[in-house]
Amino acid sequence: EPSPFLSGDALSRAPPLREQTLVLVKPDAVQRRLVGDVIGRFERRGFKLVAMKLLQADRSLLDRHYQHLQQKPFYPALLAYMTSGPLVAMVWEGYNVVRSTRAMVGDTDSAQAAAGTIRGDLSMHVSRNVVHASDSVETASREIGFWFQQNELVAWESGDSQYTYG
Ligand code: ADP
Repeated sequence: EPSPFLSGDALSRAPPLREQTLVLVKPDAVQRRLVGDVIGRFERRGFKLVAMKLLQADRSLLDRHYQHLQQKPFYPALLAYMTSGPLVAMVWEGYNVVRSTRAMVGDTDSAQAAAGTIRGDLSMHVSRNVVHASDSVETASREIGFWFQQNELVAWESGDSQYTYG
């Protein structure tokens, strides 16, 4: 794996970094036909899609995914929301993808989310905030394991790497 501290010529000669993150397009966004908008933002940014599926999440999967929130007063409502219809789970790959994706998603509280972010553009309330994105590289690796089998991740080379990474 190349160093994350490569820059300039060294970066241009290195293969693109393999950092990955989990993005969920939540049930409100599927109902509102926003799946394509969300995917388009990651494609235009230059990230590489390496896994994607539409599924109905069940409680045991969400209990694992949201383990850190199970004691929160809003957890039952969060479960009801996340099981209310199908969602789209995706894995995106690329340089600093975890941090970049969090910036693209915006603040958890939609009212605080900056315009231009997914939540700032497409959502009005914390309880219907359109997307999930992993908050660290460690969390991402764990979360990808909750939602995908290893053989559902597709390793492929995109032809535009030298233009995407400069
Ligand atoms: P994020 O999704 O931005 O990483 P958290 O991990 O804190 O944020 O929360 C997970 C999800 O739980 C949020 O995206 C949102 O769907 C829901 N949530 C968080 N806080 C609230 C709240 N106060 N009321 C309702 N739902 C909430």
